[in-house]
Amino acid sequence: MRVYGGGRGAGAGQTLENANIFSVAWAAGKITAAVAQEYFHRLYIDQTWDPPRSIEHHDELAGIQHGRFYTMEGYGPINAVAPAEIDLCAQVTLMAERHAPDYLLLHSCSADIPGHTFGGDSKGYRYQIWSIHNARSRTIPVWREMGYEVMITADHGMNAEKHHGGMEAIMREVPFYYFGDEKGPPADTLLSQLGIAASELELIGVSPATGMPPAFLGELSARSESSESEFS
Ligand SMILES: [Zn+2]
Repeated sequence: MRVYGGGRGAGAGQTLENANIFSVAWAAGKITAAVAQEYFHRLYIDQTWDPPRSIEHHDELAGIQHGRFYTMEGYGPINAVAPAEIDLCAQVTLMAERHAPDYLLLHSCSADIPGHTFGGDSKGYRYQIWSIHNARSRTIPVWREMGYEVMITADHGMNAEKHHGGMEAIMREVPFYYFGDEKGPPADTLLSQLGIAASELELIGVSPATGMPPAFLGELSARSESSESEFS
């Protein structure tokens, strides 16, 4: 069990060597939660992954205090739909209703497995992307109604040859969507994903860890607007 950076109340003292968005939020007294692939458990909860028990996780002293995790076992060409997006969105809604987390991460593999199975330029992939949009279009209004701001991005794209491990633009350039009350940078601004952690922390009223790249949403970004004209 890990107690980060001297425990709760010591959030501002964390540096990049020992900090992540969950640990900084936790140390500041915030409630954190995740609906995510099992590696988020391995990365952010300093406990052994113990299937089947780790699938559901509650621990007030862990960086992620409330979690529902899924594995990638059994998903592939004969079962290309990883936990359906609508079911993952339902888990998020339940988590929000039951635990009212200040920061809640949804990590989905709903596009990745069809991408590896059919390729990024395929009927199967496009249909799955439509399914994801459909699920989120029904649940984002629910989360907004509950008071949440929602950011959506991806860790990679997918090329037509069914993989994403390279330098192609289709692999590396991903969109960023924001549903919330803040005024963000212009829609065509090139953003760095490294600014997402600080932006999310800003929006829940927590100072980013020392050394975290600057926020592009929230009060800090507004204050630094005059000196930060590019986000790259
Ligand atoms: Zn992949």
